[in-house]
Amino acid sequence: MSLFDVYPLYDVTPIKAQDVWVYDSKPTKYLDLYGGHAVISIGHSHPKYVENLTKQLGDIGFYSNAVHNPLQEALGERLPVQSGCPDYQLFMCSSGAEANENALKVASFVTGRKKVVAFNNSFHGRTSAAVAATDNPKIVAPINAQQEVEFLPLGDLDALAGVLAKGDVCAVIVEFIQGVGGLDISTKEFYEGIDKLCKQTGTMLIADEVQAGFGRTGRFFAFQEYDVQPELISMAKGMGNGFPVGGILIHSSIDAEFGMLGTTFGGNHLACVATLTVLEVLEEENLLEHALRVSDHFKARALDFPQIKGVKGRGLMLGIEFDFDTSALRKQLIYDQHIFTGSAKNKNLIRILPPLTVQNVHIDQFFDALKIELEKL
Ligand code: PLP
Repeated sequence: MSLFDVYPLYDVTPIKAQDVWVYDSKPTKYLDLYGGHAVISIGHSHPKYVENLTKQLGDIGFYSNAVHNPLQEALGERLPVQSGCPDYQLFMCSSGAEANENALKVASFVTGRKKVVAFNNSFHGRTSAAVAATDNPKIVAPINAQQEVEFLPLGDLDALAGVLAKGDVCAVIVEFIQGVGGLDISTKEFYEGIDKLCKQTGTMLIADEVQAGFGRTGRFFAFQEYDVQPELISMAKGMGNGFPVGGILIHSSIDAEFGMLGTTFGGNHLACVATLTVLEVLEEENLLEHALRVSDHFKARALDFPQIKGVKGRGLMLGIEFDFDTSALRKQLIYDQHIFTGSAKNKNLIRILPPLTVQNVHIDQFFDALKIELEKL
């Protein structure tokens, strides 16, 4: 075994994918309601995406951030406007963890402080500060544990007020819909309260939109459901539709300094074209509104199932909750029904994170399959 064996694998080997479908060599056709972990936004191998990336690769695929890159500049113009965050500057990197790591660094540079507040059940990635702000001791190595992080219960504004009052916190980092943790959402009062407390205490608010961003929840960013203005917004996953792209939007009140952040690969030509194409397709195909319509259909169909104790999340960042561990059911869905779904830290939850191009007919296929598999249990 030459690979470092950290991933428990399903016995499926995809070799081709198109829109919401993934094919193996047999060929078996799988319905992808997992989106490769919320990554596929505009559909697998979207024709425009293939065309634009292929053309770009023929021109120039990469050069470093030491020279001008008009594609990165175009993205820096377009993304803030299209996302509804016109007062923000863009810094690009290559993953979600790296986005959060950089957001935390900016918060620390700007405030001169080093303590971070995160919430129970959070997931922010596996790099140094990001993993320390992740509520999962199993993935925090001793070298990461030196970071100063306090975890608070989601929804406990009084606890947050108490901690922020000391004036030593550089950032509060929050997923406005928890992803890996299990799709929990707190109240409008809580989220707007975090923003107010941050502003009162000179603390930076980081919206972790790595999973929820780029339209997955039916808004460009999940935080836009509320009246809040994060200083920093981290992005990845759906941003590149599978190309490894991450980034942060940084409020215009924060000044850059040469050398403050940097990366070799971030914002390269291919990454920019992937992201620009995602933006183009999201707009042309009206995928944010579409996500909400399909989400309504999903929620309506789920009502037919007494076994489903609740539907969590918004848009196409959804979870269905049962009163039993769903690991076996998810295996049945893959092997017997050829449907990919996602898991969560909450084992009773099945996560639904499809490409935003998914149609009602695919949701119907899922619920018909679910009915069959639930009867087998
Ligand atoms: N933040 C959130 C909310 C995530 O869901 C993830 C990954 O699942 C990350 C950060 C880390 O992203 P990456 O795996 O690209 O480093």
